[in-house]
Amino acid sequence: MLDELRELYQEVILDHGKNPRNFRDVEDATSQAHGSNPLCGDQLVVYVKVGDDDIIQDVSFVGKGCAISMASASMMTELVRGKTIDGANHMFDHVHHMCTGEGEDVDVTEFGEDADRIGVLSGVREFPVRVKCATLAWHTLKAAMEGKEEASSEA
Ligand code: ZN
Repeated sequence: MLDELRELYQEVILDHGKNPRNFRDVEDATSQAHGSNPLCGDQLVVYVKVGDDDIIQDVSFVGKGCAISMASASMMTELVRGKTIDGANHMFDHVHHMCTGEGEDVDVTEFGEDADRIGVLSGVREFPVRVKCATLAWHTLKAAMEGKEEASSEA
């Protein structure tokens, strides 16, 4: 990775890790799910409120864990708010592919200016033991959107 990308990655992760966005519950959430990463001890609950039009009106999380898991959850909430369920699923696929090299990638042009912000998360590839930390919030979001109460720990 280029040095400046690595710096950006660390800066963004540190910022979100210290000041997580949307760190609260959603009282009128339409669904919520719990996710845990036993490898690191990260635990979180993701709340989503989805409207009749399938648009994510509100999304938040609470929990505790390492800086990467908290930062990733914080960034996730900012990225998927206002998106459709489909759009959020595409982001999940992209993040999963970026961090693990598995699955199929999607055309990032659909994310517009969000693509760069999502790309920051790919920095985790340099730290394989941290991949589950970075993808935990996304797996938990996906579980919540699918109406499951528990996210699979298989990242
Ligand atoms: Zn972690």
